[in-house]
Amino acid sequence: MIIQNGKFEPKIAKHKFLTRVTQTGEYYRLAHVKRFIEVFNADEKLRERLLSGLDISCQLLEYQVKIDPQDIRPLWDPNAPVSKGAENVLCQQYLEFEASLLQQTKTKKTAFCEPYNVWLQRQKSRCEIELGDHNSMIAHAPLAIELSSGCTVGCWFCGVTAKKFQGNTPVDPQQLSLFRHVSKVCHQLFGNTLSSSCLYYATEPLDHPFYEDFAAIFYEETGFQPQVTTAVADIDLSRTEALIMNLSIESFPSLRFSVLSIRSLKKIYQHFSAEKTLFCQLVPQMKGATLVKANAGKALDADRKLHKDNSGKVIYLQSESGQKRRITAAPTIACISGLKINLFHKTISLVTSCRASKNCPNGYKTLYETQFNTADDFDVKINHIVGLLKITNDNSSLVYRLNPIFHCSPREHGFIVSSPSGKQLSIQNPKIGKLLRRLGELFSSKTDFTSLQLHQHSVELKVTQTQITEVLKYIYQLGIIQEHSLHFSDITPYCSDQQVGNT
Ligand code: SF4
Repeated sequence: MIIQNGKFEPKIAKHKFLTRVTQTGEYYRLAHVKRFIEVFNADEKLRERLLSGLDISCQLLEYQVKIDPQDIRPLWDPNAPVSKGAENVLCQQYLEFEASLLQQTKTKKTAFCEPYNVWLQRQKSRCEIELGDHNSMIAHAPLAIELSSGCTVGCWFCGVTAKKFQGNTPVDPQQLSLFRHVSKVCHQLFGNTLSSSCLYYATEPLDHPFYEDFAAIFYEETGFQPQVTTAVADIDLSRTEALIMNLSIESFPSLRFSVLSIRSLKKIYQHFSAEKTLFCQLVPQMKGATLVKANAGKALDADRKLHKDNSGKVIYLQSESGQKRRITAAPTIACISGLKINLFHKTISLVTSCRASKNCPNGYKTLYETQFNTADDFDVKINHIVGLLKITNDNSSLVYRLNPIFHCSPREHGFIVSSPSGKQLSIQNPKIGKLLRRLGELFSSKTDFTSLQLHQHSVELKVTQTQITEVLKYIYQLGIIQEHSLHFSDITPYCSDQQVGNT
């Protein structure tokens, strides 16, 4: 290790809920409830045995689960009778525990860079309609820094189509100094919104043997431990243990294990107690798990047929070989609306989440890309990107057209925008009904127009010039209008296959 990781400390004791459960002795039981739920979701055979009324105590021992499933029946059996008994108290405590963790992710934070805040708000509004309910699962984090090129793991379902591993950012004083500068500048831009940032994207963080050193620098410069999602938690267990000890409860879920097989799950559980992994989020990705994969990236491209299983509840992918794999309609896993920086290739991209499609298979759009070589160069490029955000935020010179992913239906006093997500947005108001209806007609007939053209019809539309300006500004910020093009990029060949275009 080049830099000792001594600055990190487990922050578990600061967590209010845990302090309480630790004092009352509930910590142990909750940890085993959580582990049981994870096993239930991961192991298809165990799940089927339990639901058929068969004994699973031997299997639970293999997973080091020390709780009787019957004591928490309402958590896994939708047909369990409602009871006021002890099992219901434990279930309530577990649900409270889950809610208290999720609550932390909802804390509203604002970046220092005001043009970014305005731009981000518009992207979030767009995603609210474009992605529907799934948007609530997306962090819209401001920053992801990739330390490698590509990924060694090669998951068949990779939602961002990680490329084959090409190498890691070299670790020398010059590179570490550049990374420190990048972290510092990003902190000046994004402030405490960096709590949801990460040092990976279409990469596996632990592919870099010195990941922890970069994470330590990031922490020193920003005050935040980067979020970690790793698919290799079972490979180097001492490394995984160090990640657990560095866990930041304040920014849950800051440590996720993406577990690819039952074998890996058992290895992790045999090494780490249920208490130790209470604050790690476990994502079961193995065959037979209840978690359904996002319809994005490699899963989107895969040549498989969709069909429903016998229960009619779960959608599977059917491969040519007849093997079943599950898939969901979740339209993206991309969770960054901000900067994606690749330290290996020295690229900076402005990206935002979107619905995965043929044109945008990885569920995010790259709006602008550039390269940098030195710290000074990085500053210049960042200033340029902030300037571009200001341009996109200004709707005064825009040619208005509805974002083509949406559909518009005029109404008497306005219009309704609908999305492939099934979400609808109603914009109707009798007081300015003529103006809103005209907008609906223009959008639905795909007729481009400018603010000036609309202002010329203010008398006919029975509104003031100010009302037109305000309505256009409001509609633009809803994210339903196609934005200014940012097609000017100096893109390196390695990433030229990613879409660069409008939001
Ligand atoms: S899902 Fe993660 S670990 Fe798997 S291939 Fe993609 S980037 Fe790599």
